[in-house]
Amino acid sequence: MNERAIAPGSAPAPGTVWFVGAGPGDPELITVKGRGLVERAGAILFAGSLVSETAVRWARPDCAIADSKGMTLEQMSAWLIAQAARCETVVRLQTGDPGLYGALIELVQPLDAAGVPIGVVPGVSSAMASAAAAVESLTLPEVTQTVIFTRVEGRTPMPEGESLEALAAHHSTLCIFLSITLMGKVTAALTAAGWSPDAPVVVVHKASWPGEEKIVRGTVATIQALCRDARIASQSMIIASPTLGARQWTTLAKSKLYDASFTHRFRRASVPAQTLRQDLP
Ligand code: SAH
Repeated sequence: MNERAIAPGSAPAPGTVWFVGAGPGDPELITVKGRGLVERAGAILFAGSLVSETAVRWARPDCAIADSKGMTLEQMSAWLIAQAARCETVVRLQTGDPGLYGALIELVQPLDAAGVPIGVVPGVSSAMASAAAAVESLTLPEVTQTVIFTRVEGRTPMPEGESLEALAAHHSTLCIFLSITLMGKVTAALTAAGWSPDAPVVVVHKASWPGEEKIVRGTVATIQALCRDARIASQSMIIASPTLGARQWTTLAKSKLYDASFTHRFRRASVPAQTLRQDLP
């Protein structure tokens, strides 16, 4: 279907390598476009166990499927280039969104050098899936309007000015990737940045994975022990945010967009502006 007939003596133009966000774990959280590419692909290179289920579920029976877990970057690019010479559609499946902690550019550069066309299909990041699992909003009017995606320093050094302590000083929402084994560093940085020991922190393990998701709610003071007790040591998102727990708040500044006194492009105000800020019953 997808393999091209090669006219004798002529090298065909290579197929396209698509970097597709597979989503956070639940195979149904891939985009419609991403799933269509997986279904058409003659070859799929997936990233570890996280996205194997998606690859297997939607791929053609004759699709060449490989796991990049044990490969070096050079082996991965060589595999993708070889498959693109053979198939019109090649997919590199990545967890969440390919543009976050996914070595996207390291893989795109050798393909560019080899003249292989590429495309990127965004995915649902685990940051979004974790907020959804916990029924949390990462932004709230008059609380914080900013979200920082970051990590703490492990083997990958943090660039100047990006220590968690410096970022936490904004007191906005922090979605902390790749750091569950460094929880002590996370809570120390929040404390040093002036977060109260009672400030809420939520950890979501395997967000969206059917039957495997775990949500641990705690505070700066308690979250490390709670995660240890829940035996959570991998594949987890740490969210620290002044918005956490807002579902239970009795007072909430509501979004102006839906306020009856607010006129915008699609709706005229129906009540006077004094009621802009309201308390929930
Ligand atoms: N590109 C991915 C991130 C890859 S880095 C994305 O957009 O989500 C791997 C880190 O992502 C893990 O250490 C963990 O912090 C987070 N992660 C990936 N899948 C997750 C999931 N289902 N639940 C919680 N965190 C997850």
